Amino acid sequence: MSSPLLMIPGPIEISPAVRAAYSTPPPGHLSKPVMEAMSASLARMREVWRASADSQPFVFAGSGTTAMDMAAQNLVEPGDRVVVVSTGYFSERMASMLRRLDAEVEVVAAAPGDAPAPAQVAAALDRVGHPKALFATYVDTSTGVRVDPVPLARLAREKGALSVFDGVCATGGESFEMAAWDADVYLTGSQKAIGLPPGLGLLVASPRALHVRETRRAPVGSMGLDWREWQPVMRAYEEKRPAYFATPATNLVLALEVGLGEILAEPSFEGFAAGVPARVARTAAAARQLRDGFGALGLAPVPVREELLANTLSALRYPPGVDVSLVGRIAARGVTVAGGLHPAIKDQYFRVGHMGYSATRSDHLERTLQAIREALA
Ligand SMILES: *Cc1c(COP(=O)(O)O)cnc(C)c1O
Repeated sequence: MSSPLLMIPGPIEISPAVRAAYSTPPPGHLSKPVMEAMSASLARMREVWRASADSQPFVFAGSGTTAMDMAAQNLVEPGDRVVVVSTGYFSERMASMLRRLDAEVEVVAAAPGDAPAPAQVAAALDRVGHPKALFATYVDTSTGVRVDPVPLARLAREKGALSVFDGVCATGGESFEMAAWDADVYLTGSQKAIGLPPGLGLLVASPRALHVRETRRAPVGSMGLDWREWQPVMRAYEEKRPAYFATPATNLVLALEVGLGEILAEPSFEGFAAGVPARVARTAAAARQLRDGFGALGLAPVPVREELLANTLSALRYPPGVDVSLVGRIAARGVTVAGGLHPAIKDQYFRVGHMGYSATRSDHLERTLQAIREALA
């Protein structure tokens, strides 16, 4: 049988062009191809993130978790009060990270499959008084719940707090307007909707967030994640000047330029403008196509309301009489899907990723539905 189709919520299938870009002997970190790819990638990140010209993109070796850590380490000091909007496993990870930094963490949580209402978040921000930052997971990969970042970014601004969004399962597949929404940090990992192999953390910081780092009292505990170390290197790379702080994952940097380029080159789709809006609309269309199929198979989503359903993945409850062995039966039909992750409902559902390259391949979507249909029969 041909290699299995990887339909988990990251890592995902990658395009032939992305694969070709990194399939080369490791280039030096100051070689011309890497400097050019880094320069182009930093500019393209601002476009994909819809960020302002004075925002700072960071590209570094690591994963989505490293990117979360970078945001927390730079912005939060001991005793800072922060609010975390919790929609599942990855929001709870963010809260744990913040507690390790001795922040006072107020968590606003919802039942699995639901999201807190903006009014609850506003009340939490008021309760803590002088909040330093609001953290939210755009799409929580453990539940498939997507929050609406617009009221959250607005509330943070109104209360004088920074807004930080974990976009690890969203960036490139859900719309995000970093500049227009006045958000402060939007971060991801390379292996999700950006469409690369795992290995890069990607983060864009607003000028306001950078200023908070520059004016903090305590040094950043993690030298390897300190924006003050990284920012001069990122600026140098953007101007194609050699600079070194820590070795970037050079092969992946070559792929990053291509992966971001593919998103920006997405042809206009269903009336949405070419580029990011078209890619997001295409990912939404892939989600709809799969969900029609899931519904016909009697698979109900974990998210409790229509507007909470993410474009990038589906979390699906096992129908009566079906258990976790379904995932293995789907794998036996050549398609890899993921089991449950949220500790409270882990054995009650499974997850299917539909983002990045696969969202543009209706044959991938059809193969996935077919494998699930046969595995259920
Ligand atoms: C996958 C994921 C992470 C963790 O990313 P890693 O690359 O596994 O470290 C964090 N947040 C969200 C929302 C994710 O989907």
